[in-house]
Amino acid sequence: MPIYEYYCDACKKRSSFLLLRADEPVEPYCKRCKSPAVKRVLSRVAVIRSEEKRMESLLDPASLGDLDENDPRSVEKLMKRMGREFGDELGEGFEGEMEEALAGGEASPEADL
Ligand SMILES: [Zn+2]
Repeated sequence: MPIYEYYCDACKKRSSFLLLRADEPVEPYCKRCKSPAVKRVLSRVAVIRSEEKRMESLLDPASLGDLDENDPRSVEKLMKRMGREFGDELGEGFEGEMEEALAGGEASPEADL
């Protein structure tokens, strides 16, 4: 189920729209001030999905190599590796940067507004 998020220019608030089908038309507006002047932002769902993909590739047996689940030190090593992979960029700035990148923004491909 896709979730679309829109950012309101007027009051700087976000509104989320949950769609039942991906091809369902959405008429975005600000749920706070009812302004139609909203901009599409990357949904959290999309972000999470790409993290999951990276997580999968990190957990790929081929990349784990010598991990022994029964060996605490081995697991600790993996955790540290994951911390390096995810730690820095998921801080405060992460989502803002994504939004900035998208704000220059072309219309989204799937929303026919
Ligand atoms: Zn608003």
